[in-house]
Amino acid sequence: MVRFDRVSKRYPSGNEALSGVSFELARGEMAFLTGHSGAGKSTLLKLMMRMEVPTRGEVIVDGSNLSRLREGLVPYHRRKVGVVFQNHQLLFDRSVFENVALPLLIAGTSLKETGRRVRAALDKVGLLGKEKLNPIQLSGGEQQRIGIARAVVNKPALLIADEPTGNLDPELSAEIMNLFSQFQQVGVTVLIATHDIALVERMNKRRLILQDGQMIEGHQFNSGASHV
Ligand code: ADP
Ligand code: ADP
Repeated sequence: MVRFDRVSKRYPSGNEALSGVSFELARGEMAFLTGHSGAGKSTLLKLMMRMEVPTRGEVIVDGSNLSRLREGLVPYHRRKVGVVFQNHQLLFDRSVFENVALPLLIAGTSLKETGRRVRAALDKVGLLGKEKLNPIQLSGGEQQRIGIARAVVNKPALLIADEPTGNLDPELSAEIMNLFSQFQQVGVTVLIATHDIALVERMNKRRLILQDGQMIEGHQFNSGASHV
C-alpha cells in the first residue's frame, strides 16, 4: 500500500529532514511511527499526503508514484488518504454533521449519499445521535472522534494520524487507538505518529522509529518474515 524507497527530503531552508528512508506498509497493516521531536515524523506523513515531494527517492502510495503525480491528480490522491490531526482542526461554527461531511462536500457527493455516509462514519466512532451538536459541546475525546469520522467518511484505503492522542488522558488515548485498530480490521492501512511510547508498547503493533531523519527500526520490507 505504501512504499518508501531511499527517500530523502531537504527543505529549501534547512537540513535534511529525512535521509534515505525505506520501508513498506502492506495493505491492511497498522504501524506506529515514533521518534524524538524533529526526527522527521510529520515530514514522512506529509510525503504520503503529497503535501511535500521528496528531494530524492520514491514515495509510492496505492500504486501511484507521488513524485510523478500530475498536479491535477493530487486532489484524487488526497481523497484516498484520511488524515487525523492532534488538534482535530474542527470548525466550531459548524455542526458535528457538517464537520464530518466536509470531505464529501468537497468531493461533490450527493446529499443523500452524504447523509448516509456521515451517519455510518459517526456510528463507527460511537457518536451517532450527536450530529446536530456543535463540537464545542463535546468532550476532548469526542472531538477527536469527530476528527476520525471526518478522516474515514470517504472510506480511504489509508488512514494516517499525527499525534492523535496528544491532548488526551491515557484512558481516552487507549480508546482512540482501539478505534484505529477497528479500521485496520476492516482492511484500512493505518500509520500513527506518536510520542506516547507507553501506549505503543501496549498496542503490540509494528513500530517504525525515526532518529535524525533516518529510520533506525522497522524498515524491513514485508516480503521477509522479520517484522520489528
Ligand atoms: P517531527 O514531526 O518528528 O517533529 P518534522 O518532520 O516536523 O519532525 O521535522 C523534521 C526536521 O525538518 C526538523 O529539523 C524541522 O525543523 C525541519 N522542518 C520541518 N518542516 C519544515 C519546513 N517546512 N521548512 C524547513 N524545515 C522544516
Ligand atoms: P457504507 O454504508 O458507507 O458502505 P457500511 O456501514 O456499509 O458503510 O460499512 C462499511 C463501514 O466499514 C464504513 O462505514 C466504514 O466505517 C468501514 N470501512 C470499510 N472500509 C473502509 C475504508 N476503506 N476506510 C474507512 N472505513 C472503512
